[in-house]
Amino acid sequence: MELTTRMLSPGEISEAVRLLADGRVVAFPTETVYGLGANALDPEAVKAIFRAKGRPQDNPLIIHLGEIAQVEEYVKDIPPQARLLMDEFWPGPLTLVLKKTEQIPQVVTAGLDTVAVRVPDHPIALDLLRQTGFPVAAPSANVSGRPSPTRAEHVLFDLNGRIPAILDGGETGWGLESTVLDCTVTPFRLLRPGGVTLEDLRSLVPVQYGTDADSGDEEAPRSPGMKYQHYAPEADVYIVTGERTATKILELSETYTKRGEGVGVMTWNERADLYPTLTVLGMGPQGDYEALAHSLYHLLRQADVLGLKVLFIEGVSEDNLGLAIMNRLRRAADHRVIKT
Ligand code: AMP
Ligand code: MG
Repeated sequence: MELTTRMLSPGEISEAVRLLADGRVVAFPTETVYGLGANALDPEAVKAIFRAKGRPQDNPLIIHLGEIAQVEEYVKDIPPQARLLMDEFWPGPLTLVLKKTEQIPQVVTAGLDTVAVRVPDHPIALDLLRQTGFPVAAPSANVSGRPSPTRAEHVLFDLNGRIPAILDGGETGWGLESTVLDCTVTPFRLLRPGGVTLEDLRSLVPVQYGTDADSGDEEAPRSPGMKYQHYAPEADVYIVTGERTATKILELSETYTKRGEGVGVMTWNERADLYPTLTVLGMGPQGDYEALAHSLYHLLRQADVLGLKVLFIEGVSEDNLGLAIMNRLRRAADHRVIKT
């Protein structure tokens, strides 16, 4: 059934609380990306998230809490090293996978006996969660397979008519989904890189991560969501790396430009001049990974707005935040990486 999707201002947070308490879904801002929330304790409400997004049923959801202390109600057997990480990084962009309690319905976890949980670091999200009092299950508020939304307009574009309301908190902070860490294995295992980096985690506890840095796909079986193609614009996307990157991109562009098809290139601002004949999507000042993470999904969505047929992306180094950025870019490119 087609709904009218209301845009709520931060002053109308109580309306979002009311909708959630009524078993409805509401999109809300966090410090990572916009989430599509529902009462995690209400299986029917949670099913509505999967319907609105077109999300596969076997892809479990993250539950969001307003207070760290609430975690005791929903997870059990918390290892001391996981406590250490909660103390250090919560509220923040770190999701921990732990054994769930009976309280959490199967539909949230896609039948797994573990649940992913975090406390977001965003004033509107925290206010919302503290007012509801229940855990809010929330995946990113996009149609499954599309880039995650970092602005309320992105949510509206994807989900207009499919959800009752969007709480508009402006642009999100990090711009990438949270780091996901499985704390049910020893050592803990990084399932998805994010704003809390592998280096940050390893400064406190041992962490394992797939050795094949090129795919990250070894993680797939343990994190059901990672097997799906993600973050993809309509354009064909290629990542290009190495010393001859610009020459290669210009060479590959020719076939498309001859046919009159739009060719885009994502590059650091300082390198834009290398591509006078192409549509440049600026990644920000060279080496500013935080700025790039912040605008990444907007840039991928811009590729569609501009009707590009193909998008070439200059690869970046995989240190710190670069690991999460390249993880998302590889998926957007369906793992097409051209090394020069
Ligand atoms: P999203 O909410 O769309 O950002 O996706 C959440 C990510 O966390 C997906 O990749 C899920 O597969 C992963 N995830 C959620 N719950 C679990 C769990 N219990 N075990 C492993 N991975 C999980
Ligand atoms: Mg998502």
